[in-house]
Amino acid sequence: MTARVLVVDDILPNVKLLEAKLMAEYYEVVTALNGPEALKKIVECNPDVVLLDVMMPGMDGFEVCRQIKANPLTAHIPVVMVTALTDVEDRVRGLENGADDFLSKPVNDVALMARVRSLVRLKMTIDEWRARESTASQLGVTDEALTVMTQPVEQAQILVLEDMAFDANRIVDAMGRDQNAVSVVTSGMDALKEIAVKDFDLIFLSLNLKNEDGARFCAHLRSNERSRSTPIVMLGNDTDLEKIAHCLEIGAHDYILRPLDRNEMLARCRTQIRRKRFQDKLRANYEISLSMALTDALTGLYNRRYFEVHMQKMLQTARENHKPLGFLYIDIDHFKPVNDTHGHQVGDEILKGFAARIKDGVRSFDLVARLGGEEFVAILPDTTEEVACLIAERLRRVVADTPFPCSAKDGQLSITASFGGIVLSDGQAEQMDVGALIQRADAQLYEAKNNGRNCIYFDGKGRLSTPTS
Ligand code: GH3
Ligand code: MG
Ligand code: MG
Repeated sequence: MTARVLVVDDILPNVKLLEAKLMAEYYEVVTALNGPEALKKIVECNPDVVLLDVMMPGMDGFEVCRQIKANPLTAHIPVVMVTALTDVEDRVRGLENGADDFLSKPVNDVALMARVRSLVRLKMTIDEWRARESTASQLGVTDEALTVMTQPVEQAQILVLEDMAFDANRIVDAMGRDQNAVSVVTSGMDALKEIAVKDFDLIFLSLNLKNEDGARFCAHLRSNERSRSTPIVMLGNDTDLEKIAHCLEIGAHDYILRPLDRNEMLARCRTQIRRKRFQDKLRANYEISLSMALTDALTGLYNRRYFEVHMQKMLQTARENHKPLGFLYIDIDHFKPVNDTHGHQVGDEILKGFAARIKDGVRSFDLVARLGGEEFVAILPDTTEEVACLIAERLRRVVADTPFPCSAKDGQLSITASFGGIVLSDGQAEQMDVGALIQRADAQLYEAKNNGRNCIYFDGKGRLSTPTS
């Protein structure tokens, strides 16, 4: 995994030392000797991780970090504070300014590489979602400028796997400040039971359980579908660094060393929860945008783009399975006068109601789409001509027999629609493409329009006689 690391330190030998270590592991290294230069380079070079010295003349590392995290263009880039200070208060201050972790000088090689690797991986995941989200906003779907730092940190669901009551209680106590809901368990089995029924925002995992191997359980959590992307914060002793490095390697997010400090726990927990919520939002935005790109905003039905791809698939399936395939082309009668007389708003209400009736009138595995304007289609898989005719007639009736409630003067309007249908029996799907299919159904629709409307014409069959009852 190659990545770009920005090293910021006011003392040149420190920069050189970190640069050499990172380059030996094939990282690309960019350097800066002060805060303003770092802020400039971070925009120019788009690094994957920033290693940031705290004590620098002029602008110190806390301020640089705060500015990186306040800028929506750079807020997602992980920042590791590198400091001679081991004072917990400075760590907490850094974490509260948005730092993702701390390294103490002299920098331990194992910790450095584990840190950088796990943060690079995290950034890659977030980059992927950011890229998708940016496509979404190009489609005009999302406009909210999301940043990590603006995510709420309160009321998270937290799981604690720790069999030492003293430490478990400390965590529960610390988490109380953010109104987090904490479940404490003392065995991996119980943890899995909890995970199966609850969505956790964070898992604290002890690496010093009496009866099981926390590191192995960490691997298990990564492979479990329900906990795969839940942040894991390990609890360990300073003799556990190798084990911690291994767990960071396989996907744990962070660790805290005992004795557990309340403020540090809270700050690290907040960082993870912000990140998770940020990522969840990116994902949700993406999913919404995806569905918006494929559905019609007014009626909620699939749009033409989706229909064309799906129709192609259905033709292929029909061909492969030797099943008949039905298709209906539906157009509302005299819809222009509805708009002209009652206004566009009423027209829209009718379109919505019409779409809902058509959708409710077909079977769950049929697909209804709005091709545009007041034109709709229904794909009826595995459907004989006889059944397709019955469905078309049912649809004609659910439209024509009951007026549509709307904001027109009378509170309702009577509407009818015309139908053109076609059923491809086994073998016919061979030569048919989507364009030709639409054309043939459209020709039938044209017949229906020319022969009184509110009726159904089928390819090769002509007008469907309307039962009188
Ligand atoms: P016909 O029975 O021959 O189909 O007549 P028609 O008036 O329904 O057909 P025409 O194609 O002439 O008019 C379709 C009208 O549908 C034109 C336009 O005003 C209206 N329309 C298309 N899209 C929308 C929409 O999204 N909202 C509303 N309110 N009206 C729409
Ligand atoms: Mg029409
Ligand atoms: Mg039309």
